[in-house]
Parts: sequence; structure tokens; C-alpha cells
Amino acid sequence: MSLAQQVFDAGVVGAGGAGFPTYKKLVEGAELLVVNAAECEPLLASDRYLMRHHAAQAVAGAVAMASACRIPRVVIGTKSHYAAEIAALREAIATAGADVEIAGVDSFYPAGDEQTLVYEITGRSVPPGGLPLDVGVVVINVTTAANIEAATRGVPVTRHYVTVTGEVAHPVIVDAPIGATAAALIQAAGGATVEPYVLVRGGPMMGKHAPSGQADRLGFGKADGGLVVLPADHPLVEFMAKPLDRLLGETKSMCIQCEMCTNLCPRFLIGHQLRPHRVMRSLQSGTDSGLADALLCCECGICELYSCPMGLSPRRMCVYVKGLLRAQGVRVTDRTVHADHAEERAYRKIAQARFIDRLRLGRYPSSLDDMVRLDPDVVRLATQHGVGAPARPVVAVGDRVRCGQVVAGLEFGELGAPVHASVDGLVREVDDAHITIEREGSRS
Ligand code: SF4
Ligand code: SF4
Repeated sequence: MSLAQQVFDAGVVGAGGAGFPTYKKLVEGAELLVVNAAECEPLLASDRYLMRHHAAQAVAGAVAMASACRIPRVVIGTKSHYAAEIAALREAIATAGADVEIAGVDSFYPAGDEQTLVYEITGRSVPPGGLPLDVGVVVINVTTAANIEAATRGVPVTRHYVTVTGEVAHPVIVDAPIGATAAALIQAAGGATVEPYVLVRGGPMMGKHAPSGQADRLGFGKADGGLVVLPADHPLVEFMAKPLDRLLGETKSMCIQCEMCTNLCPRFLIGHQLRPHRVMRSLQSGTDSGLADALLCCECGICELYSCPMGLSPRRMCVYVKGLLRAQGVRVTDRTVHADHAEERAYRKIAQARFIDRLRLGRYPSSLDDMVRLDPDVVRLATQHGVGAPARPVVAVGDRVRCGQVVAGLEFGELGAPVHASVDGLVREVDDAHITIEREGSRS
């Protein structure tokens, strides 16, 4: 059986956030495989934990992929100061006798952005609107690499590490079944320490906010590596809660065209013609001359949470404009890479520690050593774990399922990934979006 088939059957998707079906990346034609081990969302530490404890699995997964796809060079890109992680990776590489390099990058945000990491390692800019493969590179997350290794043994993705941090009694890495709810994850971390609070699914920069009332129904998927609990009056929560019409009004009345958002934009700095100040100016003036820049935004959030002195949100304006343009069928057509800004870029990288302070997250730990295993009474599995189509449920209410059994499927070739039961138990609810399973032997 091909590795692509094994990876599809195991339901592997990109664990770094976007959830792209990994088997679709198993193609020939690249000259370099980059393993993204530069986890950069503030406070998240799941990938670091995996590297310290499962380095051999990650290395083996990367080697298997490189071999199957005839990629001659493999580089693991991680932060230079991750000494324990680098030591574990080196040992795994040596033990396996693998031809794998490690490249250290500075600790800045967004070092783990795919295109930023490719630039850091190769000096090449992925063309605007393009893919790393356009410059001969394929990128996979380090946890994804470990999941590829498991797939070669026929083991599907049923568990993952989730960093549970913020306002919880004991910030910790939780080894959780896919679909564990936010409520169960918070309980595993000793419970929330504030009321009222907001759930951030993912990291503080790019994660999605949800009210605490949803904690019982919010199942964590394959690409959700973090849960941050924040007080409802935290500045980050209040900023993210601003409604669109208010942000639009502020854009029109307050943007002073200082260009700080552009000067620090990571995509602008690698040579893309993304100038968020022009998007803002176009919205101010009601013209469309700079709007198309928004299509190039990766939504990293630097402009709104770090750069703008006026507290505006170029990111949300870019998301808003992108939506309008895509609805009109406008796509990126100019793939020209303009001169990058290598010289300025060197001192415009935003140090992670400084960034964490700016976000008022400095009181929470930025690395974690402890891990707890969670076996909750109920899991709520999404049928879609990122990019692509949802899987189609193949079980019904009342069915008994075993951990690892497919509960929602797709055909090989479709853009998506099958979903497996993550516990032994009884199917309690099924709809197009979710399958709820009550664990065998649970108290409920
Ligand atoms: S940083 Fe803020 S004020 Fe300055 S140009 Fe950008 S959006 Fe406008
Ligand atoms: S969110 Fe802002 S800083 Fe980030 S890519 Fe988009 S425009 Fe640039």
C-alpha cells in the first residue's frame, strides 16, 4: 500500500492549525522537505513536548515521507534556543542514521508561519498566492510527521497533545482523545480560575474565541493544539469582540497612514505586495486601488496586536475585504516576488517574549513540562478538521464503536480526511458536523 493511502486511511491532517489533508502533500517534485517545528503561537507548547518525548517518531515520519516522495533533503526548522528539543531530535537522527538536518531560527512571531519558515531556511520567497512547492519545498508540521510514522503502522489519529493554559489552576499539556471538549480539557488542567472567562481555541494570535457557555459542546479537533482560558475582560478578548461595523468606522476615522502595519507585516517583508496601510486607505477613501493587497494576508495578527499605534485592525479589514473580493471571483494573479526587505527584516522581527508582554500574557507560562492523560466521558468529533470537505458519517445513534474505527469517511482522492472514533463507546448523537460518543464505562 502506498504511503499516501496509509496516511489517508489514518486520517492525518496538518496539526499546525490549518488541518490540510496530509496525503495531498505526498507528491513528487520537491527538492526539500521542511518539518515545521517552530511552534510560534504564544503560550503553546504541544509541539515542543512532542519533540522532547517522541522525536524518533517525528524523524521517522519525515524520512518516510521524503523517501516516498523522492525528496532528497530534509530539514527540521525549529527555534535555536530549544536546547532540549534539539538534543532529542539529534539523538533520534543519530540513532536512526537518518540524513536529516536541523536549522535553528530566532524566537520571533510568526517563525512558524509556513512561508516565513521557508524564507528563513532557504532565503526563497514563496510567490504571492502560491505554495512552498513553487520554490521546491514541501512543509509539514512536526506533529504531523509523527502522525505519518503512526500511519505507517496502521495507527490512525485518535489522540493529540493540547496545551491548556491561561487562567487554569495548572497549565499543562493534555494527552487527549480527539473530540475532548473544552470543559474536559479545562478540568484536566485543574479547572478555570476566573469567572467569567472566554475560551480561545488555538493560540492567542490566530485562535477562535468562544464563550465559556460553549465549553461542554466544543470538541477539540486534530488541528487544535491549544486552549487558552482568558478572563472576559482581558484586553485581547475585548479587542477581538469588537464588531465589524465599529472596526470599519474606526478605520475610516482613525487611520493616520503611518505605515507601521506594512513595515512589520511578515508577508510584505518577504517581498509580497501586501501593504495593509493601502487596504486601510482604500476603505477610508472608498476607492479600490489597494484592496487587492488583502488577498495576500495570512491573518497573523501582527498589524492589529502589535504594530498599529491607533488600535485599529488591518487584519480584520483584510479578512473582510478578502471575503468581498473572493465573492466577486477576484483571485491573486500577480505572482511577482518584489524585492524582499532582508536588511530591514532582520531588525523588524518581533521577539516572542516582547510580543507576549505586549499581549498581556506574560503572567502565563511560555513552556510546559507536565503532561496529564485525559479519558473523558464524552467526545464530540467534528466531521471536518480543517481544509476540505467534511467526512460523511457512517455510524448511527446507538452503534457501539471501538477506538480507531472509522465513524465518518471519504473516498481516497477527495480533499478531506476520514474521522475515527477516539474512544470505545456508544454513539449518542450524529449530524453532518459532529458525532458524539459516550465512552464505555463512563459515569454519564
Ligand atoms: S499602523 Fe494603524 S494607523 Fe498606521 S497605517 Fe496601519 S492601520 Fe493606519
Ligand atoms: S495580519 Fe496584518 S501583519 Fe499579518 S499578514 Fe495580514 S496584513 Fe500582514
